[in-house]
Amino acid sequence: MNILVLGGGGREHALCWKLAQSAAIAKEGGKLFAAPGNPGIAECAELVTLDEKDHGAVAAFCSENKIGLVVIGPEAPLVDGLADSLRAADIAVFGPSKAAAQLEGSKNFTKALCDRANIPTAGYVHCTSLEQAKQALSTFSPPFVLKADGLAAGKGVVIAESEEHAHEALEDMFGGAFGSAGAEVVIEEFMEGEEASFFALTDGETVIPFGTAQDHKRVGEGDTGPNTGGMGAYSPARVLTEELVAETLERIVFPTVRQMRKDGTPYVGVLYAGLMLTGEGVKLVEYNCRFGDPECQVLMMRLESDLAEYTLACASGTLAALPEPTFAEDTAMTVVMAAKGYPGTPEKGGAIVLDDAEGEGAKVFHAGTKMDGETLVANGGRVLNVTATGADTRAAQAAAYAAVEKVDFPSGFYRSDIGWREIAREG
Ligand code: ATP
Repeated sequence: MNILVLGGGGREHALCWKLAQSAAIAKEGGKLFAAPGNPGIAECAELVTLDEKDHGAVAAFCSENKIGLVVIGPEAPLVDGLADSLRAADIAVFGPSKAAAQLEGSKNFTKALCDRANIPTAGYVHCTSLEQAKQALSTFSPPFVLKADGLAAGKGVVIAESEEHAHEALEDMFGGAFGSAGAEVVIEEFMEGEEASFFALTDGETVIPFGTAQDHKRVGEGDTGPNTGGMGAYSPARVLTEELVAETLERIVFPTVRQMRKDGTPYVGVLYAGLMLTGEGVKLVEYNCRFGDPECQVLMMRLESDLAEYTLACASGTLAALPEPTFAEDTAMTVVMAAKGYPGTPEKGGAIVLDDAEGEGAKVFHAGTKMDGETLVANGGRVLNVTATGADTRAAQAAAYAAVEKVDFPSGFYRSDIGWREIAREG
């Protein structure tokens, strides 16, 4: 079977790396394509140029190249309805429809679904005007959680300590700081607790747990400084005990998948639940309609089952026929190497030499890289995801940083404390 992966970041490199190991592909003499991919992905897939906004062109490529499965990595093409267009052309897709991708594409959609399905989450008010939002604010106490309704590349959430700051943020949101994403705003209760990520695969009916992880959003050590797309992650998140995973499935994930089906918008793909472990139990912070980046990298390092089989089963509605996938007991950790300046304006073009960083169970996933002649150079904010495994978090951390040390990337930087919380717990 031929597979096409859409996307070109570290997440898609990890997906391609795993799919390329698939017995299901190899058995049938299948081929892996990626669009646009990156220099790391080029080592395990054939890169093609496709405009993901041109749904007809993507469908035509799939027909011409006998693509049996399309795996859509990022959220934007999902929210834009690419999966619907491909399904309409009879092409199997791993990823939700436009309607189902609203779970990530609209905070208010998800909040309303939580109401209908009685899913534990922060109390909220949905506001469609600045006046209404300012009035609603007086019913909350600080810190105030303000969210632009639509996709805002992880920047649409403001936690305001004072009413004055909250008013300024609301004025920005309704003033167009996030474009149409901020035309509606959700104000939420602040939830106290530790955050963790839970992943599940579903074909719309059957749900299979697919691992846990914790990431590090802030750019600086000790979780300080501005938010980023993620500076590192590890899996499993042991703070999500077996009991808490069972609670997450029963109270959050199963009711969501059931409700989506009942509403006539069945969810197909990976459901990524951002959770808050509060004193009152597990609560949903947000849903994402794709794998996390860099959480995907650590999940793929631990996954022992055949990714092609599972993604195809989601796409074709046959997940019930598969056993639960297996993951290595080991911990996997990824350290993001970013270009100086990130998350502001990253320095582009800095040379990178990987040398033998990939020895001894370590893997370097490419994110924002490109070839400049014979030289690998930085071409984005987050550039490399240096990933390794170990018997516990401390061992995985040692292996990941040993590999980081071997990477020559003078215009890059990284956090040196990925995993600190879990390591403190391990003692
Ligand atoms: P991202 O794309 O970075 O995951 P997002 O824009 O989709 O973010 P959320 O995940 O909803 O937005 O919120 C971002 C972060 O803000 C959360 O990871 C969490 O740390 C914090 N946060 C969101 N909602 C709440 C809440 N109700 N109480 C406390 N913290 C919250």
